[in-house]
Amino acid sequence: MTTLDELPIRDDLRGLSPYGAPQKHVRIALNVNENTHGIPEEVVDHVLAALGSAVRGMNRYPDREFTELREHLARYLSGPEGTIHPEQVWAANGSNEILQQILQAFGGPGRSVLGFPPTYSMHSILAAGTGTRWIAAERDAAYEISVPTAVAAVEAHRPDLVFLCAPNNPTGTPLTIDVIEAVYDATDGIVVVDEAYAEFMPDDAPSALTLLPGRPRLIVSRTMSKAFAFAGARLGYLAADPVIADALRLVRLPYHLSALTQAAAIAALQCAPQMLAMVDEIRGQRDRLIRDLPALGFTPLPSWSNFVLFGGVEDPHRTFEALLAEDILIRDVGIPHHLRVTAGTEEETTAFLEALGRIRA
Ligand SMILES: *Cc1c(COP(=O)(O)O)cnc(C)c1O
Repeated sequence: MTTLDELPIRDDLRGLSPYGAPQKHVRIALNVNENTHGIPEEVVDHVLAALGSAVRGMNRYPDREFTELREHLARYLSGPEGTIHPEQVWAANGSNEILQQILQAFGGPGRSVLGFPPTYSMHSILAAGTGTRWIAAERDAAYEISVPTAVAAVEAHRPDLVFLCAPNNPTGTPLTIDVIEAVYDATDGIVVVDEAYAEFMPDDAPSALTLLPGRPRLIVSRTMSKAFAFAGARLGYLAADPVIADALRLVRLPYHLSALTQAAAIAALQCAPQMLAMVDEIRGQRDRLIRDLPALGFTPLPSWSNFVLFGGVEDPHRTFEALLAEDILIRDVGIPHHLRVTAGTEEETTAFLEALGRIRA
C-alpha cells in the first residue's frame, strides 16, 4: 500500500481533504438537510412505472439534451413571478455537478471564484478540483452580507465568478436579492446563486429567478435533493440565459444524465405537489427548533432553510458524540461553539430536542 503523497497527484491537490459529511446508519439522521419524510406510495408507483419503460429502452443512449426533463423543470420553475423556458434550463447529477460544470466552463487555472464563508463546503472543494483559485471574502456580523460588503469584496478581488448561497448553508441565513443585484452590477464575471433551499424560503420572498431577464451572466442553481425529497436520485439543475447551457455543453460528458435518472426525475416532477406536501410541516419544525432551543440555553440563528445553526454549544464535538450515542446524527460544521441540525419529522425533532435537553442537564 502506497500513500497518496507517493502518487504523482496534481501538486494543487496535495494535502486537501475530500467532502466528508459522516455517513452512519442511525435511527434519526438530521445531518445533511434531506427531506426526512418518505416518498408517498403513489409517487413510488408512478416512478417505478416510468423506470420500467426506461429500462426497456436502455440498449440505446439516453436523450443527450434531456428535452422532456427540461420541459418539466421549466414548468416547475414557472409561476406568478415569471416564466422559465425549457432552453433556459440545464440539469446534471446533483447541483454539485452543475456547479462543477460552471467552474469547468468559466473557471479553471488562472481564474478565480469569490465566496463568502462560512458557506457550502463544496463550493471551495469544487474550485480546488477544477484548478480555480478560491477567494474567501468576509461577512458582516451574524453571518449577514450587506450590499456595501458584497460590492467591496467584488471590487477588491475582481473574481471571474462569484458564488452566493441563498439561503446560506450552513448558517441558514437569508440573502436578499438586492445583494445579488448589486453583485451582478459590480462584476463582469459569472454570478452563481445557489438556491438549494429555495422552497423553504418565506412564500413572499422573491427568488433570484426574478432577476434573470436581461442578466445573461446570472445563474440560479437548484436541486431536487432537499425540499423535493429526491436526494438519492441525484438531480440538480439551473436556470439562466440559454447561452449558459451552450457553454456547459462544451464541458459536460456526453449522455451525462442516464435514462433512469431522466425517467425518475420526470415522474417525480409530475407529482410535484405530493413531493412538496411536507414543506410547510418542515418549515414548522424549523420554526419550532428556533423557538425551543433558547430555553435549553442555545442561540439559534434565523433560518430560511430546512435546518438551524445554533450557538452556545460549549463543546460541539462532545455534544455531537452524546447525540450520536442516542442514535441521533447532526452536523458539526466546524464553527466554534455551533452545531447544525436539520428539521426532521415532528417525532424526529421532538427526539432531538429531548435528547439535547438531557445532555444539557
Ligand atoms: C445540499 C446542497 C446542495 C445539493 O447538492 P446536490 O448535489 O444537488 O445534492 C447544493 N448546494 C447547497 C448549498 C446545499 O446545501
